[in-house]
Amino acid sequence: MKFYNTLTKTKEDFIPLEEGKVKMYVCGPTVYNLIHIGNARPMIVFDTLRRYMLYKGYDVNYVSNFTDVDDKIINKANEEGVSSEEISTRYIAECKKDMEAMNILPATTHPLATQEIGGMIEMIQQLIDKGYAYAVNGTVYFRTRKFDEYGKLSHKNLDDLRSGNREIKVTGEEQKEDPLDFVLWKPKKEGEPSWPSPWSDGRPGWHIECSVMSKRYLGETIDIHGGGEDLIFPHHENEIAQSECASGVPFARYWLHNAFLKVNGDKMSKSLGNFFTVREICEEYDPQVLRYFTLTAHYRSPLNFSRAIMDSSKNALERILTCADALREAAGEGALTEAEKEKLGALAGFREKFEAAMEDDINTADAISAVFELVKFANTEVKNGVSGAFAGKLLEELDLLCGILGLVTKRKEVSLDEQVEALIAERQAARKAKNFARADEIRAQLLDMGIILEDTREGVKWKKA
Ligand code: AMP
Ligand code: ZN
Repeated sequence: MKFYNTLTKTKEDFIPLEEGKVKMYVCGPTVYNLIHIGNARPMIVFDTLRRYMLYKGYDVNYVSNFTDVDDKIINKANEEGVSSEEISTRYIAECKKDMEAMNILPATTHPLATQEIGGMIEMIQQLIDKGYAYAVNGTVYFRTRKFDEYGKLSHKNLDDLRSGNREIKVTGEEQKEDPLDFVLWKPKKEGEPSWPSPWSDGRPGWHIECSVMSKRYLGETIDIHGGGEDLIFPHHENEIAQSECASGVPFARYWLHNAFLKVNGDKMSKSLGNFFTVREICEEYDPQVLRYFTLTAHYRSPLNFSRAIMDSSKNALERILTCADALREAAGEGALTEAEKEKLGALAGFREKFEAAMEDDINTADAISAVFELVKFANTEVKNGVSGAFAGKLLEELDLLCGILGLVTKRKEVSLDEQVEALIAERQAARKAKNFARADEIRAQLLDMGIILEDTREGVKWKKA
């Protein structure tokens, strides 16, 4: 399997540290609001990579954090007059709901920054002891220029960074030894959540959180570190500096970054206000459509969001589901015919194409094309008459490939209650619009389903006949 490694700017063969095992860390969201569909992109992309690696037989230890202490969380808490913890707890729960809807597997561990403060204080102290960090007036800074390899991930030249940075003067910057130094620990301001430390009552900087959580759950050197491309600098660059200076060993071997989800050419982001939450999109479309849409592009290519593309994703997904319906109906008794036995080679070919695409830096766009070749082949087989066994094999193959992409080929079963409630709502609307013919039609349809309606003073009631 090959990955494009941001660190080396080349596609490299993936060789895990330990045979058969993958240690993977993906930076998670800051939880102060519902996540938007741009935030969903890394979740979907790296979940798909995880699923592919599981399919290949790897034991995958997948860690993804929630950043639950941050200025944005504190601001939101102040706006609502509640604690930061209440905000982060609420939006972690909401985020998990969205993830489940998008069929994203829960991480092996979802650490919370606020639960790992002890480890952060320890690493910061280690950095101070080694001369890589210093405390001034309760703030601890990382001594960036002390780490020779600083800039190796973002391929930035330290001198350029320094001259660029010299212009910027932010309050509190005067106390830094060098403008490039970044914060590891900051003292609390009035009303902020804080923890005691040797330097001040305060809270950790954002970058140290990931260094510590990754080390705690995966060890000092990990295989894969992922996130959106906006995290390359400074977040991931700083994570490398902290982790490698503290441990003296390489931090992560493969750095994978997804490109942005865009709207009319701009990055979708909270600050630009051009975002759609996963929640609102999933009211309009099945969450699977969003997942499918995200995977239609290679993860390192920008992806533009529009209703038109979502609609075509919906139609494409529907073709897969329709094919699966037909196969499910045809599958069962009946052995493979001689002609079908000869087609098993062709059938295996779709999987080979799918794997080749995934092995080539997770090319989900080409992997989806392989799925459609299988769909086309299966549709022709069904149309020309297929044995139960062959239909079963085709369905198994379709389920397997879709499953790696996190797509479910079986339609969600709508319960009788939901069907009845929907029809009743439609009947009420028809009556309100004085479309009594349609209302009667629905009553008859419900009767066919064995449902009797009763118009009562409290509204419409129903029971089974
Ligand atoms: P944040 O909560 O802003 O730290 O973002 C959480 C994750 O979403 C990070 O990996 C970001 O890189 C990623 N992300 C944010 N906006 C976008 C976007 N428009 N497209 C793709 N990824 C994004
Ligand atoms: Zn991170």
